[in-house]
Amino acid sequence: MSYAHEILKNLQRSSPAQSEFYQAAEEVLASLGPELERDPRYLRHGIIERLIEPERQILFRVAWMDDAGGVHVNKGYRVQFNSALGPYKGGLRFHPAVTAGVIKFLGFEQIFKNALTGLPIGGAKGGADFDPKGRSDAEIMRFCQAFMTELHRHIGATVDVPAGDIGVGTREIGYLYGHYRRLSGRYEGTITGKGLDWGGSLGRKQATGYGCVYFAENMLNARNESLEGNTCLVSGAGNVAIYTIEKLYQLGAFPVTCSDSRGTIHDEHGIDLELLKQLKEEQRQPLSRYLEYHPKAEYTPAEDYPQGGHAVWRYSARAAFPCATQNELSGSDAEALLANGIACVSEGANMPSTREAVERFLEAGIAFGPGKAANAGGVATSQLEMQQNAGLTQWPLEKVDSHLRAIMADIFRRSSRTAAEFGQPSNLIMGANITGFRRVANAMIEQGLF
Ligand code: GLU
Repeated sequence: MSYAHEILKNLQRSSPAQSEFYQAAEEVLASLGPELERDPRYLRHGIIERLIEPERQILFRVAWMDDAGGVHVNKGYRVQFNSALGPYKGGLRFHPAVTAGVIKFLGFEQIFKNALTGLPIGGAKGGADFDPKGRSDAEIMRFCQAFMTELHRHIGATVDVPAGDIGVGTREIGYLYGHYRRLSGRYEGTITGKGLDWGGSLGRKQATGYGCVYFAENMLNARNESLEGNTCLVSGAGNVAIYTIEKLYQLGAFPVTCSDSRGTIHDEHGIDLELLKQLKEEQRQPLSRYLEYHPKAEYTPAEDYPQGGHAVWRYSARAAFPCATQNELSGSDAEALLANGIACVSEGANMPSTREAVERFLEAGIAFGPGKAANAGGVATSQLEMQQNAGLTQWPLEKVDSHLRAIMADIFRRSSRTAAEFGQPSNLIMGANITGFRRVANAMIEQGLF
C-alpha cells in the first residue's frame, strides 16, 4: 500500500464520515508524491501526518431565540488547523450543510491557500449549521452574538482572525465584531471584512472575485490569450460571483450567467450587474426575480438541472468561474464545458469541481486555476486589512488593488514554476499544492516538533 493511501485509510478510520475532507486531503496528497520523494525530510519529520490533523478543534453549542420566542440550538465550529506560518486565519460559514467534515476540508485547504499568498498567516475555518435564509435582522444579530459569546475566548489579532464566507457578509461581521469588542474590551483587528468606517479595508469585499479574474487573466496571458471579448460563465450570486462579474466587465469580457440555490439565470445580453447587486446584496431576494426586469432572460429552476449536473455549465463560453460552493461542477458538467470549447476555468469557490471534473480538465490541458490559488485574493486582502489595523491606518483603494494584483500574479508565477520543475507546467493543482506545502512544511521542521 502506498504511503498516501495508508494515510487516507487511517484518516477514514479515525475521522469517519467526512467525505469532503477526504476529498481535499486526497487531492493534496496525490500531488505531493514527487516532492516527498525529492526531499526525505518530510517523511522523517512526519509532516503529512501532522498536517492532516488540526492543531485544535473547537465544537460548541449556539443557543439563540427567534422573534417569536422559540429557542434554537446550532452547532458552532472553529478548526485551528495549522499555525506554523502565522496566526490562524480563515472565514466563518453559516449554512445548513455545515458539518465537522465540511469545516475540516475548508480549514485544510486554507493552510495551503494562505501559504501560497506568501503572507504570514496560518490556516483555520469555522462556522455553524445555521440557516440564515428567511431570518430577520434581529434574529441574525442574536445568532451572531450567541456564536461570539463562545468564540471570543479562542480568537485575537495575533491568535486567530476569522472573516466571512458563505452566509457571513458585512452585516454578520458587524454583529460578530460588535459583540467581540463588548466581551473583550479591545478594538483591534481580530476579524477581517469589517465595515469601512470601523476598521475594514477598501477593496476587501471585491477581493475574492477580482482576484479570481486576475488569476484567469494571468493563466490566459501565459497562453497568449486574454479574457477581453470572451463570453464567460459564472455560478453563484454572492459576494464572490458579483465581484467576479464586475471585474470581467472591467476587462472587456462578457459574463452571461449567475445562479443561486434555487436556479440559474442566463442572459444573452450580459448579466445586469446593478440589478444583481440590488437583488442579492441589498434586498436578499431569490434570483428568479431577475426575470421581472429582464423577461427575455432564461431561468432554469434547480430541480430541472440534468442529473448530476448544473445548468450554468451547459452554456457555451471561453472561460468559466465556479463561484458558488463545493462540488458544484461535476464530471459531466466538465465534459459539457469542454465540448463547448472552454479554455479556462478559474475557481472562485472552494473545491467547486469534483474529482472527476478536475481529471477531465487536466486531461484536456486547459488553463485550470484551482481554488486555493485562484480564490486566494480574498484571504490575502484580509491579511492586508490586518496590516492596516496593526498600523492604525487605512490604505487607499489603489494601494490595496495593486497589492492584490501583484499577489495573484505571484501565486500564478510560483505555482507554474513549481509545476514546471516536475515536468507538468500547466498542472497548477500540483504547482499550487507543492508550493504551499513547501512553505508550511519547512516552517514546521524549523520550529521543531509540536
Ligand atoms: N472565506 C474566505 C476564503 O475561503 C476568506 C477567508 C479570510 O478572509 O480569512 O478564503
